[in-house]
Amino acid sequence: MNKEKSMRKFTVIDEEFVCENCGKHVKKLGYSCRNHCPYCLYSKHVDINPGDRSEECHGLLKPIGLEIDSKKGYILRFQCQKCGKITKNKAAEDDDMDQIIRLSTKHL
Ligand SMILES: [Zn+2]
Ligand SMILES: [Zn+2]
Repeated sequence: MNKEKSMRKFTVIDEEFVCENCGKHVKKLGYSCRNHCPYCLYSKHVDINPGDRSEECHGLLKPIGLEIDSKKGYILRFQCQKCGKITKNKAAEDDDMDQIIRLSTKHL
C-alpha cells in the first residue's frame, strides 16, 4: 500500500533557515528547494538525493567552484568541511551575483 510513497524519490522541502556561516536569515525560495545561502553561498550537507534531508553528516558545505551548464545555468560546487565530500547544486535566482562571479574566477 506504499506505492505512492516509494515513487517519490525527490522530496522538495523549501524552508527558511539561518545560515550557519554568515548568520543571515534566509527566506523560502518559492519556486524550488532552497538549498544554500544566497548571501555567502554556503550550504549544509543534509541531502543524499537533492532535497531529501537524509544525510546525517550536517557539515558545512563551502562553495569551491562554479560550472556553467548550457541547460541548467550556474551550478555551484561545494565541499563539505566535515567529511570532505564534493556536492553540486544549482544556483538560485536571488543568489549574490558578486559571490557567483568570485567563484567563477577560482581555478581549481
Ligand atoms: Zn550565508
Ligand atoms: Zn559531509
